[in-house]
Amino acid sequence: MKRRQVVTGGALAASLALAGCKQDAASTKEARSAQKITWKMVTAWPKNFPGLGTGAEFLAKAITQMSGGRLTVKVFGSGELVPAFEVFDAVSAGTAQMGHAAAYYWKGKLPEAQFFGAVPFGMSANEMNAWLYHGGGLQLWEEAYQPFGLKPMPAGQTGVQMGGWFNKEINTKDDIKGLVMRIPGMGGDVLARAGGTPQALPGAELFTALQTGTIDATEWVGPYNDLAFGLYQAAQFYYYPGWHEPTACLEAMVNQQAFDALPEDLQKVVEMAAMAANQHMLSEFTANNQRALETLQHEHQVELRQFPPDVMEEFKSYAADVLQELGQHSELSQRIYQSYKSFADQTQKWLAVSELAYLQAR
Ligand code: CA
Repeated sequence: MKRRQVVTGGALAASLALAGCKQDAASTKEARSAQKITWKMVTAWPKNFPGLGTGAEFLAKAITQMSGGRLTVKVFGSGELVPAFEVFDAVSAGTAQMGHAAAYYWKGKLPEAQFFGAVPFGMSANEMNAWLYHGGGLQLWEEAYQPFGLKPMPAGQTGVQMGGWFNKEINTKDDIKGLVMRIPGMGGDVLARAGGTPQALPGAELFTALQTGTIDATEWVGPYNDLAFGLYQAAQFYYYPGWHEPTACLEAMVNQQAFDALPEDLQKVVEMAAMAANQHMLSEFTANNQRALETLQHEHQVELRQFPPDVMEEFKSYAADVLQELGQHSELSQRIYQSYKSFADQTQKWLAVSELAYLQAR
């Protein structure tokens, strides 16, 4: 370039220099685009576990395929690279570039995360997505994870879960007292106020804990998942509805540095794949839950039970307290609580004249 400038000088040199810069930029971009990148995705689920593990696989495959193989994502089940409850730290540290889990698992280090997982008596999947994508929820979530070098994205909704598996009937509020139950997040705090003892165990440990009597009861997800875990072999009564998780919003988290290092089009691929995974999981649960419930009832003689109204009322009242207290944890927590609460109040009014009215009428 220098020699050309000397020879031709003036305007021509300037235009040549500009062309050279453009060419350099183009070839850098080309080189970046041609680069093959491999990411590790650590998950909080057993590999290929129905709904959750398959949801993580769907996301990984979508990114790999949509990028034409330029960004390959390799999935690790819980315990393969890191244990289920170390996904957050592993992605934050860059041990893996990506993770798939549930935000309420991190309540110990980041209590605010619980708003983005599941809120007892809170928003359903439809409402939650509306808040995250169109109500400022996702920006607040990003703000909460930013200090950990993580970028969160919703990447799967379970829809309304089941109340859980019990070996004794729940007929009155007194039946909750002394109950040792696996129930994570704010649902666990509500159970504690009702006199129970909440436990947070990863999914892979539930069956043994229930069968050996380490716990008296457990919730997991819904019929599709619970059938796969064989929980019906360890408990007789299957309660509904899952007041503690009106949906669990599963998360994809990406190491921010790894994300920033991607070319722009691959960043978009990751975001769009997560959005597709979010919808795909909800559809998968809705499509499979009733079939699985029928198998549980008819082939495994599981007894379906509804929580009595007074038990539900008690849970609901404690849930409001738990949520409000979480909202006072920090300045950020207050803003998330206000945003969540006002959005939930608004959308509930709309759903009363749309979905709720329709579901009752049909
Ligand atoms: Ca659950």
